[in-house]
Amino acid sequence: MIKVRNLVKIFEQGSQVLRAVDNVSTDIKQAEVVVLIGPSGSGKSTFLRCLNALEELDEGSICIDGVDLADSKTNHNLWRREVGMVFQHFNLFPHLSVLENLCLAQQVVRKRSKRESEEKARTLLAKVGIAEKASEYPRRLSGGQQQRVAIARALCMEPKVMLFDEPTSALDPEMVGEVLDVMKQLAKEGMTMLCVSHEMGFAREVADRILFFDQGRLLEDAAPAQFFEQASDPRVKTFLKQIL
Ligand code: ADP
Ligand code: MG
Repeated sequence: MIKVRNLVKIFEQGSQVLRAVDNVSTDIKQAEVVVLIGPSGSGKSTFLRCLNALEELDEGSICIDGVDLADSKTNHNLWRREVGMVFQHFNLFPHLSVLENLCLAQQVVRKRSKRESEEKARTLLAKVGIAEKASEYPRRLSGGQQQRVAIARALCMEPKVMLFDEPTSALDPEMVGEVLDVMKQLAKEGMTMLCVSHEMGFAREVADRILFFDQGRLLEDAAPAQFFEQASDPRVKTFLKQIL
């Protein structure tokens, strides 16, 4: 479903040229759950941002269902509709209620009526377990609840794939589980997912594959059992020793 070939993303910092994503190729199948791990600064977020058309590609290509992001005819706004993204810091609109947060893009981008978008929003709020918070403002919710709102908001657009960038890293420990449970449920239902996460329990349980990044390069692309038990690369071993 997703085909990434020789992807390169370069940042220029003064006279320094940084290859934040350095010649990465991989394929993601429909309904596959892929967890991205690696040290801070290894290019995980940049990789996801490229997939969501938030960064211009310097080299290589990304295709989703045969549509090439680098093709000049590809509309990036249409592309982003199909690719849901959830960030570490929720990024909810603070001045809008939960329901309004879920309806805005549906009405503006998907051109749904107020009624249709509210119906969709309420269905998804129920799905993530916070139906009763529809008229609250984000600041009155816990971090875990805010992140579940962010997930529901992305799902309202009926994306083909969901990208999660450290969705539980900003949460108090007691709230991590409720967000991971929603993600597990989505995975079970067959959503195609790419998740940057340091939750190794989640990775072992839910991931079909682990991608390990280091200095922009994709060093390992393996099933969880193989990755955790048989990683051969010393950089992977060092990383696992630090976090497990
Ligand atoms: P990760 O998510 O794995 O921690 P990032 O993708 O955020 O890593 O960053 C990869 C590298 O690219 C880092 O060295 C970071 O400093 C750099 N980088 C990320 N975004 C930018 C930017 N907008 N401008 C310049 N450098 C950036
Ligand atoms: Mg990151």
